[in-house]
Amino acid sequence: MKIFKITLAILLISIRLSAQVQTNHYQYNIDLLNIKHDQVSVSFTPPKNKVKTGTFVMPKLVPGYYDAMNFGQYVSDLKAFDKNGKAINVTKVDTNTWKVSDLEHAVKISYQVADGWEHILQNTGGAKSPASMFRKDSVAIINYNSLSGYFKELTNAGFKVTVKKNAKFYASSALKYQVINDTTDVVSASDYRHLVDAPVLYCAPDTTWLKVGNTRVLISFYSAEHQNHSKILAEKLKSILENQMAYLGGKLPVKEYAFLIYHESIPKNGLLGDGLEHSHSTVCLYGSKTLDRLPKALMGVASHEFFHILTPLNIHSEQIQNFDFLNPKLSRHLWLYEGMTEYATIHMPVKQHMISLDEFVKTINDKIKGMAGFDNNLSMTEMSTQAIQRQDQYMNFYQKGALVGLCLDIRLRELSNGKSGTQELMQALMKKYGPEKPFKDEELFDVISTLSFPHIRQFFQDYVENGHPLPLGAYLQKVGISYDEKTGTVGIMSSASPGQLSLRKAWIGI
Ligand SMILES: [Zn+2]
Repeated sequence: MKIFKITLAILLISIRLSAQVQTNHYQYNIDLLNIKHDQVSVSFTPPKNKVKTGTFVMPKLVPGYYDAMNFGQYVSDLKAFDKNGKAINVTKVDTNTWKVSDLEHAVKISYQVADGWEHILQNTGGAKSPASMFRKDSVAIINYNSLSGYFKELTNAGFKVTVKKNAKFYASSALKYQVINDTTDVVSASDYRHLVDAPVLYCAPDTTWLKVGNTRVLISFYSAEHQNHSKILAEKLKSILENQMAYLGGKLPVKEYAFLIYHESIPKNGLLGDGLEHSHSTVCLYGSKTLDRLPKALMGVASHEFFHILTPLNIHSEQIQNFDFLNPKLSRHLWLYEGMTEYATIHMPVKQHMISLDEFVKTINDKIKGMAGFDNNLSMTEMSTQAIQRQDQYMNFYQKGALVGLCLDIRLRELSNGKSGTQELMQALMKKYGPEKPFKDEELFDVISTLSFPHIRQFFQDYVENGHPLPLGAYLQKVGISYDEKTGTVGIMSSASPGQLSLRKAWIGI
């Protein structure tokens, strides 16, 4: 009897191995152990379905990165099979889509993926934060948008991914990786968007955990030349994260967060970098000769990226909630996602007494100078919906976008007699919406006006929807800061009135 049981068990296991059956989710297999010609083997079983011909999609774009990357270009040799191992007809439609006949009976779809990762030194077409890279013996960065796709007809299914990997690799990610054995991990996500939202850094562990309030923060570092460096970076990050928490009212809206930092040594001086924010993690890529400038650069990037836990994570439109990876419709509110995030990044250090008023004035000056290189008569809402086409103007969301935040903050403080500004507004918006409740793109300005003051609607109409010049001089004057439009210089007024000083105090605490 015992022998019979064992035999049956072996039989069942072997059936399962040969033909994974359809369940209610996508079951992916990624094999990082068998990398050939810089390509990794991927296969999956689609979810249970009744679809005759399915359209398999690899993303054209990913949220937060406005450059069309066309991840389908790295996929080759896509094949589909039924449970008897018989090939099912597959037709390539264009760069990012394939038609799979008889999807209902497809139990295995397999393909090869090239990582599309070039040396970090190649600024164009080189290492980009939404791309993946895999080196069997040392490191892998997996952005699931480049290794996995989905069927257009089956977008609500969850994902279960089994990763075969080097025995010494540890998975650093915002998602929990279940260790099956030395060379096998399994991870699950509720849908494709959530899977793509959580990249993983696989390498020998160089990790440090921080506790910031009630939030656990992971700092994971990889560099071929430098080991045991995460602790040094974590020490530098701790104070900035604590100040960010205080700035956000003493509580962070996430339980866990991961900084995934990849460093590559390059022969020339200077520092190259790219980063992409996610809901609970950030991928930071750096190239430099030495690590000397890394902590400072990381603090700048970390500060901005970490503030994204407010927006878009907790405050975003339907276009982001239901992101279409193939033909995305862009939201008109990049002034919020990037502009307000960058404003919080420059406002926090002065509000938290980390820098002086002089230093803050210098930062405002830099933003004004930065803005000068762009067309400032454009509507920011229009520029936002055309961010892909208007790459030449995109970086202005970090310059003018931040200054929109600054003017909005001063105006709100003025209207509320100093009681509330953008910090309180963002908290109110976060409370109203949150990670799973998007706003309607066309309603946001009215909602903000209802939450704050009816007068603020005009501000958005003039300076965000229409391209009227920002009233920097008039607004800075309200807080005792002078702005000479001709020379473009900002300074502290020596003869500020008590009213100006009290509004400034409410605004920046000095
Ligand atoms: Zn950003």
